[in-house]
Amino acid sequence: MKTVIIGAGAMGSLFGGLLSISGQEVWLVDVWKEHIDAICSKGLVIEEKGTIRTISVNATMDLQSIGKADLVLFFVKTYNTEKAVSDSLALEKEDTLFLTLQNGLGNEETICQKIDRKKVILGITGQGATLLGPGSIRHAGWGKTYVGELDGKMTDRTNQIVQMFCKAGIETEVSSHIHDLVWEKLFVNVGINALAALLGIKNGQILDFPETLRLLDSLVNEAVEVARRKGIRIEGNPIERVKTVIEATRENRCSMGQDLDRKRKTEIDAINGAVVREAERMGISVPYNRMITDLIKVIEKQF
Ligand code: NAD
Repeated sequence: MKTVIIGAGAMGSLFGGLLSISGQEVWLVDVWKEHIDAICSKGLVIEEKGTIRTISVNATMDLQSIGKADLVLFFVKTYNTEKAVSDSLALEKEDTLFLTLQNGLGNEETICQKIDRKKVILGITGQGATLLGPGSIRHAGWGKTYVGELDGKMTDRTNQIVQMFCKAGIETEVSSHIHDLVWEKLFVNVGINALAALLGIKNGQILDFPETLRLLDSLVNEAVEVARRKGIRIEGNPIERVKTVIEATRENRCSMGQDLDRKRKTEIDAINGAVVREAERMGISVPYNRMITDLIKVIEKQF
């Protein structure tokens, strides 16, 4: 599958680098010139558990020069999805597939505004990566990746993507209930990101105070209530799952925290902000998510 990854930051470079090593034809596309120049001239550097690999992978800022793609993978931040989708139309042929593994809610809707939904595949990933500088990333997490058709059907094309990712060492499964998994991951981001970002703490510190534990409960419970009313299937105890993730990432500063620290826009609209939007549509109130979204928004407005 000729794969074009739009958004070659931490995650796009990770997937692109691993797929390229496994022999796939991959193109990385990004608007960040220094990064693309570094990959083209010196290769993509992936640091992994103290080992450094330099990988040769196609990279360009000029998406028009690539030709048509079999698979387009979106890995821009959620607030750039709309532009990335418009750009991706140049890569489209009759059977091109468009996959998103981004965090949050709303990516599916944004993609389907311009692309026929029959061509769109949804996913989530437990892989993690950090940008170190132009042309250089760190592989920082190894969780499972799931992909699924929007209508839940098991198809050859999702199996093909799974096989391609697994061959590249990215443990992946097809899911027949991918929307449930998107929400499950959302609960984790809803409970951790904005809270840790605002308080200037590492993930693990959320578990150290009764106040943060109460806030975590309220944020996640509101999201769970919205999900239930939407008909999302929720298995087990979402709060306990969020706490397990916090334990496993105790020392991490979450991505939204890093964004605020660097005075950059965050993905709040796709995380707590998305819970607020969904709740409003149903006429229910989610005061904790509304407040935390507003607080982040005011900070962003001062950048
Ligand atoms: P990132 O900021 O490292 O990378 C995004 C890249 O997109 C940047 O290099 C940026 O220059 C580029 N970009 C912006 N607009 C573009 C456009 N129109 N065309 C091409 N490139 C464009 O972000 P990331 O950490 O890789 O995250 C990407 C997505 O994956 C987010 O939704 C994030 O929540 C999700 N995610 C991240 C991780 C992680 O560990 N970093 C894990 C799981 C999911």
